[in-house]
Amino acid sequence: MDFTLSKEHKELQAKAKAFTEEVLFPYEMECEENDGITPETHAIINQKVMDWGFNATNHSKEHGGQGMTLFEQMLVSEQLGMATGAIWDAVPQPSYPMKFGTQEQIEEYLIPSCQCKRRDAYAITEADAGSDPSQCLTRADKCDGGYKINGEKWFVTVGDVADFILVHAHVDGDPEKATVFFVDKNLPGVAVKRTPQYTHHFAFKHPEFTFTDVVVDESKILGKIGDGFDLTKDWFVEARLGIAARCVGGATRVLNVANEFAAGRIMFGHPIRDFQAIEFMIADMAMDIMAAKSLLYRVCWEISGDMDRKQKHARASAVKLFCSEMVGRVADKGVQILGGRGYMRENPVERLWRDTRVDRIWEGTSEIQRVVISGQIKKRGLDIYTGW
Ligand SMILES: Cc1cc2nc3c(=O)[nH]c(=O)nc-3n(C[C@H](O)[C@H](O)[C@H](O)COP(=O)(O)OP(=O)(O)OC[C@H]3O[C@@H](n4cnc5c(N)ncnc54)[C@H](O)[C@@H]3O)c2cc1C
Repeated sequence: MDFTLSKEHKELQAKAKAFTEEVLFPYEMECEENDGITPETHAIINQKVMDWGFNATNHSKEHGGQGMTLFEQMLVSEQLGMATGAIWDAVPQPSYPMKFGTQEQIEEYLIPSCQCKRRDAYAITEADAGSDPSQCLTRADKCDGGYKINGEKWFVTVGDVADFILVHAHVDGDPEKATVFFVDKNLPGVAVKRTPQYTHHFAFKHPEFTFTDVVVDESKILGKIGDGFDLTKDWFVEARLGIAARCVGGATRVLNVANEFAAGRIMFGHPIRDFQAIEFMIADMAMDIMAAKSLLYRVCWEISGDMDRKQKHARASAVKLFCSEMVGRVADKGVQILGGRGYMRENPVERLWRDTRVDRIWEGTSEIQRVVISGQIKKRGLDIYTGW
């Protein structure tokens, strides 16, 4: 067994670190103070994303992306996750299912998205359909000219800057016919209902959208009618591992800051790291990150090879669950070590503490990951998690 990173992997890791620190960090306070980044900043970052070659790490070169393996994508995401305010989301990773589009869809939507010229948002969640998306009420009904979409979507991340939305709707209101449609945001009937405020100050917004008699022709269906849930499941693996990688990156930054602070902060005549209460917190943080990172690297490496789709899904749930809960523990200790400074928004530890809370909610809550894991244990036995 050899767990050493190759020279190429180390170079990629170092490049992603340099990109995050040089390109993303300078905009963190702008994002914090203005609750998002300006269109000008977004354009500058997009240009740099292209210059540095971090656009669409998750899509093939043929489709205008970087064609990275999942392991390589994870190495990049881990570094990006150190940036606060989710500025990592200005480094677009177009939704994975788009690669299953027709040639026309690939040319119209995927290739320009990979080149930072267009931007997608993915809308599944609704007021009464969260963890259980089969409850979606957004429907698509056959009409002259294609399908008419009606419904409402919540929490549409990057909905403010996206120019098209992948909308999960049920044809004829039937969940068996769950289908994803490409919906251009400028079509008549697409409207922003509300843009709520959230705990974090995110580079972009998460608006709620209404779709009122929005007509799209059949060529806007991604895959086939009824493919909706399968397309989403495929995406979960990549999205969940991406979250896990960013959690490891965020936790690492918190630990670096806390460790340095503990060495320099003098109380009662000693650096606070000399107090066992502080030193033990640092030890627990380091151990937690080590465990999360080992799990993440192992699973991303395995999945980059040949693996059954269900196994991938099962493993990705465990990694997402562990890493998102880990960053919560680490960030909380980071705030504690920094004392009052840890509670100031100008401090990246405070921002990461807020930013990473959502990682236990989106792309499947911690409870839903446990539902997946326990279901897999029941069906396939413990070996899927504990066997080696
Ligand atoms: C900032 C942000 C951005 C988001 N971006 C997007 C986006 O771009 N696109 C999109 O479609 N969605 C997005 N979401 C939605 C997100 O995926 C959902 O919030 C999430 O899936 C949970 O759904 P819910 O909020 O309706 O909670 P609910 O499903 O109502 O859950 C409420 C509670 O019940 C628990 N629960 C539910 N079912 C079970 C069960 N079977 N067993 C045990 N406990 C259970 C949950 O874990 C949770 O604790 C975003 C959410 C946030 C907060």
